[in-house]
Amino acid sequence: GKCVKVCPTDTLSLPDKPASRSENRDPGAGSKFDLKEPLPESVKDYAQGNEKKTIRSQVTPVAGGDVWSGVWVIIEYSNGKVAPVSWELLGEGRKLADAIGCELCGVVTGHQVDAVIPEAFAYGAEKIYVIDHPVLKDYRTEPYAEAITGLVKKYQPEIILMGATSMGRDVFPAVATKVQTGLTADCTVLGIDPETKLLQQTRPAFGGNIMATILCRTRRPQMSTVRPRVMAMPERVEGRQGELIHEEFGFNESDFRTKILEFIPSDAKSAFLDKAEIIVAVGLGIGAKRNIALAEELADVLGATLAGSRGAVEAGWLNHDQQVGQSGVTVRPKVYIAIGISGAIQHLVGMETSDFIIAINNDPEASILRVANYGIVGDLFQIVPAMTAEFKKRLQ
Ligand code: FAD
Repeated sequence: GKCVKVCPTDTLSLPDKPASRSENRDPGAGSKFDLKEPLPESVKDYAQGNEKKTIRSQVTPVAGGDVWSGVWVIIEYSNGKVAPVSWELLGEGRKLADAIGCELCGVVTGHQVDAVIPEAFAYGAEKIYVIDHPVLKDYRTEPYAEAITGLVKKYQPEIILMGATSMGRDVFPAVATKVQTGLTADCTVLGIDPETKLLQQTRPAFGGNIMATILCRTRRPQMSTVRPRVMAMPERVEGRQGELIHEEFGFNESDFRTKILEFIPSDAKSAFLDKAEIIVAVGLGIGAKRNIALAEELADVLGATLAGSRGAVEAGWLNHDQQVGQSGVTVRPKVYIAIGISGAIQHLVGMETSDFIIAINNDPEASILRVANYGIVGDLFQIVPAMTAEFKKRLQ
C-alpha cells in the first residue's frame, strides 16, 4: 500500500485480492471505454493470443461513434510562448479529423491565455476549450493533468495529441493514467485506418530498428505525443473564427503539492536546435574534439547551429542537447549538413525530414548518402575547408 499513498496522480489502488492472470489479459476488463455492444468475441480471442486479423471489422462500430468524438490538440503555452509543435499538430489533426469525419478542437490551459485563442483558430481549430486560472500560471504536472483530465472526462474526445516536448512527455502519461487509456509516446507518423477509423500511431521501436504502428483498440481517448518538427506547419489564416468554450477549474493552490520557486531559462545556444534553419552536424568521422573547429568555422560562415551524432556526444566532443536523433532532438532545418556521420537509423529519424540534406562521407556505402540530396564522397578534412572558403567568397 505504500505506492498508493505516494502516487502523484492518485491512480494506484490496492485490490482486495490480486486479479487472476486471465483477467489481466482481457483488454475489455475494467475498460472506461463506453462500448455500446459487448466486446466482440474476436477481441477476446486476440487477448488469449489467437489470430488478430478478424478484429478490424468487429471494432468498426465503436470507433468514430458519438460517445467519444473529436480530435483534440493540447496547445502548449508556457512563459508567454506557444510551442510551435502545437500548430504543427493542428495541421496534422485536421487531416485526422477529416479522415474520421469529426471536428478539430484545441485545448488551452494556463493563465491569461487570451492571446493564444485567435492564433489557435488561425491555425485551424474549429472549437477551443479554455481553462484560464492563476493556479495554472506556471506548468506543473498535477494541476495541468487535473485540468486536461477534467475536460477529457466531460467532453470525451476520440483522439488527443500533444507535442513530445518536456511538458507533453510529462503531463500526457499522467492524463492517460487518470483516464485509464493507452498512450503512444514520440510518434513520428499518424494516420487513420480507413476501415476501422482507429488512429495509427507510428514510432521507432527496438532502438529504432523498426517502425512500430500501434493501435489503441478498446480504450478512449486514443492518445499520442508527437515529436516537434516532424509534421509540417499548416497554413495560418488570419481572422478565422470558431467556437470558444470556457471551463471552470475547481482547484486551489493548496490542492497541489509542488510549488514553483523560480524559473531559470536555459541559455545554451543548442536550446534552439529544433528551430534552427541551418544545421552543421558532426559525427565520429571528424576524429577528435579539436577538429570540431572545422565544422564551427563552416557553421559561423553560414549562420548555422552546430549539432552532432550520438557518437560525437558520447566521445565528449558535444553536449547532449546538441545530439540529433532518436534519443536526442528531432530537427527539420532548411539545410542539414552532415559531416562524418554514418547515418544510423537512430540518427536518421531525427533529421531525415530536413528540407535539404548535404552529407560528406568517405564511404560511398554510408547510409546517410541514401537520404542526402547532395552526397559528397571524400575526405572531410579536404571538403569542409573548401566549402567554408567557397561560402565565404559567395556570402561576402
Ligand atoms: P559512425 O557510425 O562511426 O560514423 C562515422 C562516419 O564517418 C562513417 O560513416 C565514416 O565513413 C565517416 N568518416 C570517417 N572518417 C571520415 C573522413 N575523413 N571523411 C569523411 N567521412 C569520414 N545516434 C544518433 O546520432 N542520435 C541518436 O539520438 C541516437 N540514439 C540512439 C538510441 C539507441 C537506443 C541506440 C542503440 C543508438 C542510438 N544512436 C543514436 C547511435 C547510433 O546507432 C550510431 O551509433 C551513431 O549515430 C553513430 O554515430 P556516427 O555516425 O557519428 O559514427
